[in-house]
Amino acid sequence: MARDRESKCKRCRKFNIKLFLKGERCYTDKCGLQKKKSERFRGRRRPSQYGLQLREKQKVRWQYGVMESQFQKYYQMAEKSPNLTGEELLRLLERRLDNVVYRLGFSFSRPQARQLVNHGHFLINGRRVDISSYLVKEGDIVEVKKKSKKLPLIKENLGASQKKKTFPEWLDIDKKTMRGTVRRFPLAEELDQEIDLSLIVGYYSR
Ligand code: ZN
Repeated sequence: MARDRESKCKRCRKFNIKLFLKGERCYTDKCGLQKKKSERFRGRRRPSQYGLQLREKQKVRWQYGVMESQFQKYYQMAEKSPNLTGEELLRLLERRLDNVVYRLGFSFSRPQARQLVNHGHFLINGRRVDISSYLVKEGDIVEVKKKSKKLPLIKENLGASQKKKTFPEWLDIDKKTMRGTVRRFPLAEELDQEIDLSLIVGYYSR
């Protein structure tokens, strides 16, 4: 167990991003990211182009908590779309129900969102959906199930999310009714600009 816990924040350090794979541990100074932020490449050879591509792909895969096979499926779906492949890949990841639950502020992390979804706390358009990979559609109403509206965890998360500066334009939340709306899909400029999509496209088009 202890080893597992350690390896989880090792990933935060590796990708230089908080992944919340072990709950709130990433908020403490136990998260490797805070300790070793400036040591990323120390003592290592400069990574090759392939290394950079692989690393960026893995970073995003861990960020959204998706298995490689699923990630490849998203890539193939993105390739077939008329939109730019990299952007569409990210858009598909953003449309995952666990991500939307996280973005709406019902959870403090994506792993927690996944757990809440799996436990059946959410309705989409009035029907229970407990599949975290469900892809939301434009106009979908994502709502906390009536019984679950009393859950302190979700209430606290929603309260804390008020302080967050950036709430995505493509979503809407009514905190009182605990009801979120997918107004539309995210525009290119609303996607995470920290992600170098050309590296990921490069990785899959080798
Ligand atoms: Zn961490």
